[in-house]
Amino acid sequence: MTLWLAYSTPDESLVLYTTDRRMVDTFAIGAPLQKATWEGKPRVRICHTTELSIFRVQKALKYWEMLGYEFESVYTDYTLTCGEPRYGEIIITLPEGNLTEHQMAATRIYTEKITGKIAKVKIFVYPKSGRKERVIEHEMGHALGWQHHKQKFHMMHPSWYLGGYDHAGLRK
Ligand SMILES: [Zn+2]
Repeated sequence: MTLWLAYSTPDESLVLYTTDRRMVDTFAIGAPLQKATWEGKPRVRICHTTELSIFRVQKALKYWEMLGYEFESVYTDYTLTCGEPRYGEIIITLPEGNLTEHQMAATRIYTEKITGKIAKVKIFVYPKSGRKERVIEHEMGHALGWQHHKQKFHMMHPSWYLGGYDHAGLRK
């Protein structure tokens, strides 16, 4: 069997193909990239419509706290107006439109024009995706400014199936 090593742009990962062009593995080149950071400690607000328990979210925060990140607080918002983040907040809410069928969740980051620092974040997730392992941890990684990293078993791998709890390069 012949293996082909190909650079795939623009994500700068090495992709390993078999002769029938079936992708068998990917290797990231270099360290994960963090495109923005927070000035202070973000507050986390869970809209109750996501059906995510505070325990589940705390578990995700613990993953990042072990890597040196800090969060001010986390609570569940039962009001109907939950959905818009205030300054300094990460909110977890239901998707506004439909996510594509391959997406389990999505994260939108708002940065300050002048400093480039993260001002607020919206994480969109359906209840059934939020219950899957690693989904909230992964989106929280985006909320902390991390981009995708195509290393197998890595937390920031874009594919849930190829990802894992590997946190290489993510320490604060
Ligand atoms: Zn992602």
